[in-house]
Amino acid sequence: MKLILKYLRKHLGIFLISTAFLTMEAVADLMQPTFMSKIVDNGIRNADTGLILLYGLIMLAIAAAGAFCAVMRNRFASRTSQTVGNEVRLDMYRHVQTLSLENIDRLQPASIITRMTNDVTQIQDFIASMMRMMVKAPITGIGAIVLIIIQTPRQAPVMGLILLIAALLIWCNIRIGYPKFNLVQKCLDRLNRTSREFLTSIRVVKAFSAEDQEREKFSDASEQLAEANRKAQQIMAVFTPLINLVVNFGIVLLLWVSQNQDEAQIGRLMASVNYMTQVMFAVTMIANVMNTAVRAMASSARIQEVLDEQPAQNLTESTEKPEIRGGIRLENMSFTYAGASRPALNDLSFEIEAGTMLGIIGPTGSGKTTLVNLIPRFYDATEGRILLDGTDVRRIDPEHLRRSVAVVSQKALLFSGTIRDNLKWGRADASDEQIREAARIACADEFIEKSEKGYDTRLGQGGVNLSGGQKQRLSIARALLCNPRVLILDDCTSALDAQTESKVLDHLTRERGGMTVLLISQRISTVMRADRILCLDDGRVQGFGTHDELMRDCRVYREIRHSQIGGGENE
Ligand code: ADP
Ligand code: MG
Repeated sequence: MKLILKYLRKHLGIFLISTAFLTMEAVADLMQPTFMSKIVDNGIRNADTGLILLYGLIMLAIAAAGAFCAVMRNRFASRTSQTVGNEVRLDMYRHVQTLSLENIDRLQPASIITRMTNDVTQIQDFIASMMRMMVKAPITGIGAIVLIIIQTPRQAPVMGLILLIAALLIWCNIRIGYPKFNLVQKCLDRLNRTSREFLTSIRVVKAFSAEDQEREKFSDASEQLAEANRKAQQIMAVFTPLINLVVNFGIVLLLWVSQNQDEAQIGRLMASVNYMTQVMFAVTMIANVMNTAVRAMASSARIQEVLDEQPAQNLTESTEKPEIRGGIRLENMSFTYAGASRPALNDLSFEIEAGTMLGIIGPTGSGKTTLVNLIPRFYDATEGRILLDGTDVRRIDPEHLRRSVAVVSQKALLFSGTIRDNLKWGRADASDEQIREAARIACADEFIEKSEKGYDTRLGQGGVNLSGGQKQRLSIARALLCNPRVLILDDCTSALDAQTESKVLDHLTRERGGMTVLLISQRISTVMRADRILCLDDGRVQGFGTHDELMRDCRVYREIRHSQIGGGENE
């Protein structure tokens, strides 16, 4: 709730104006039955047509004024709720951008998406319904009660009792409803996650003919959402009519108590009954607003959770901007993923000079990707440290650091747009000349120039209209265009045929001009080209040296070579 108030405070002016219109509207509604009673008790009984007409016209004028106020407050309500929604979404987006991968892992992308869309909508709905009803309901309710007491004082205690019961019911409704709506949002998260997973991995699903299995997962999640919604709606389905029933019972009671009413007071009794329906209307409105409030409370807690997520990395001391040449040194560095039981990397120490090409090899899950992710600080070391040209990476300004270290990840990530847009992504001011040069080194120029529109070829989302090898070459070219001091190639030549891979690596070896290259691969033939090789297994360094040194000293390296090339030509 605090969250909603914080944002509403920014729009206090409009909120107050809209509330003023709402108040006037409520007053207009309240005046009608009183005039009606005057028409009945004074006009009709005395057959005074002039008086009837006069009161009739007054009632018409009041109704018109009320209608005008209603239009105005509706306009303000939609405007404010939409503006607040927009602000909350933007603030969340900005905050998420400051978070590190560890935070995102914890919050889960699908859940963040639900919170940014559906949860924000719940808050918008609440603000809109509050601005439409919130003030009106108590004014109408209390005003109507006061007028009932004025019109027919004898019946007041009965009314009091009825309203107390109604209030109690509303309170129960909120207590029981809150956890149910919270659950609905959680189920929605799960449904979004399942659909997202299916849609991003649709190729694998099709390849394994796993549609049935995936459909089952989806239908499970969907069924659970429906069930949670059903339960939440059931609460409303019970309470809303129950509250109506109580108030209607009050009307019957009112009439029963008034059975020996003076005939001259018939108009007043009519007005009281009318006010009683207004009370009921107010109570229902409050119940409705409370229902949206319950949902908004659950949603705002979920949004607050994102906004409260503290960036896992402390960046306050990361201000240095040393000249980066590319020398890397690890000192007893260990890393454990948040929530993992054992370290992914264990006590790593080694050093390479600037300009070295370091091959990194090891079985899957040995920690290769984790290791290189620590250099541009996607994550931070849990123990020990990583030095870049003698400076702890945690002290370097992250923007400065990431401009000097380019990562080509295992999975080629491209964006929708032209090939040129994609290549210029890391360096907006790159010239066509530079773009072509980067493409040439990455051996991407051939297939780009062969396609009809060349660099203006449009890519679908994630580059769906390219082959795996083409995507990999484009991501390498994109990284090269940033002109980094450290280039990390995370198994990103895996989809290239041996000949093309060899050509790309030849280009890099010859033309890297003092750039440090970390070349991860599963293939011995690939890492063999490097100046030094690091062999990892189970998060530990198994060997570090040249190919020949590793063949002599490192059992794991020999085993990998043996499995790939065969034992026959050993030594
Ligand atoms: P490689 O790149 O050598 O195949 P990784 O560095 O990807 O290996 O993984 C090393 C270990 O860390 C594995 O055991 C893997 O399960 C674990 N791991 C990788 N990424 C995460 C993550 N985001 N959260 C938790 N554990 C992870
Ligand atoms: Mg990997």
